[in-house]
Amino acid sequence: MAERIVFKNVEAPNSRELETYRARGGYRALEKALKEIKPDDLIDIVKRSGLRGRGGAGFPAGLKWSFVPKESKLPKYLCCNADESEPGTFKDRVIIEKDPHLLLEGITLTCYAIGIHTAYIYIRGEMVFGARVLEQAIAEAQRAGFLGNNILGSDFHLEIYVHRGAGAYICGEETALMESLEGKRGEPRVKPPFPATRGLFGGPTVINNVETLANIPDIVLKGPEWFAAIGTEKSTGTRVFCVSGHVNRPGTYELPMGVTARDLIYEHAGGIRGGRPLKAFIPGGSSVPFLTAEHLDVKLDFESVAQAGSLLGSAGFIVMDDTTCMVWAALNLCHFYEHESCGQCTPCREGTRWMSVVLERIEHGRGRQQDLDLLLDVCSNIRGQTLCPFGDAALTPVESTVKLFRSEYESHIQGKGCPFAP
Ligand code: SF4
Repeated sequence: MAERIVFKNVEAPNSRELETYRARGGYRALEKALKEIKPDDLIDIVKRSGLRGRGGAGFPAGLKWSFVPKESKLPKYLCCNADESEPGTFKDRVIIEKDPHLLLEGITLTCYAIGIHTAYIYIRGEMVFGARVLEQAIAEAQRAGFLGNNILGSDFHLEIYVHRGAGAYICGEETALMESLEGKRGEPRVKPPFPATRGLFGGPTVINNVETLANIPDIVLKGPEWFAAIGTEKSTGTRVFCVSGHVNRPGTYELPMGVTARDLIYEHAGGIRGGRPLKAFIPGGSSVPFLTAEHLDVKLDFESVAQAGSLLGSAGFIVMDDTTCMVWAALNLCHFYEHESCGQCTPCREGTRWMSVVLERIEHGRGRQQDLDLLLDVCSNIRGQTLCPFGDAALTPVESTVKLFRSEYESHIQGKGCPFAP
């Protein structure tokens, strides 16, 4: 079986309890760090491991930490981004619900490295059970001396708070998350300033995704070289792929980076339901371009997926067989983005609405030939014109399906309806 890092405990009985976590080697990395590793050296270890953010952007974690100033008049903060809302993505939830102490240990190590004494876990509002699990784990860790004052007899102290969101997708964007944590409307901020220098409550802030932080304990315990030897040269470690859609075994699969899409779909996820042909897949959550059956041998690492014309993103892997209507798929995703736009930028607010209107009429047999160019024109008026990456994410399913499946759009228009309708 492939090496497991963030899912190593999830199948153990009572995996969320402190006793189980400790019996399986938990909190040993924290003990080691507090006794033997200086904070700056810990940042260097994470840099050398090559760990890149697992939330979507893939930014090197150690480098991100090093941007935070050592001295600051205002308190520094860590925000753990647990607002997992990207369609097709459901991995952080598993870590939180099954192995909360792994996340807490990762957070504590990160805070030790950067000199942070307050951390927030911003959890998606719908994940009520996960929030309770985290609260219980924090209380357990405090009682056992892994959190609070003088952690394990050292002079390091840390408090972790759980903050539940209210169900807005945009609060997964780092600056909107901080606005929401501060009690304001969850709307993205203008950058710069970047969170590393001016983030939560104006203080220097690091924001890391749950899966990113859950990798830290093993990197500390087993060393950066061990971690860097897994995966590919520039995409090190494992990735939790969330496979959904038309496969026989949907689920979460932790595999080394660089596994092929073919292996993920046919070996791990059991192939396409009913043995039907693959039509398309989205490799990184709904905000990235579609790929097709000709991309089955693409390696699932940051570089190879980008070379193939998409992004690894959140590793939300959505599989579609030949019965899927691509106009409907684009419309479905466009409705989502239209609903979730925070409305600050006109191109995003109006553009998502107009793309939905045009897609709706094509899907329902009222489309015109010029609508295809109109859709691409709306996309080009959104791209790069918005405050946050949401605008570009929203246009992606539309643009990518018009480009890859133009003939399918044309059949809707010429046939005055959806050829896939029952
Ligand atoms: Fe809000 Fe969209 Fe602008 Fe992002 S791009 S700030 S979601 S309106």
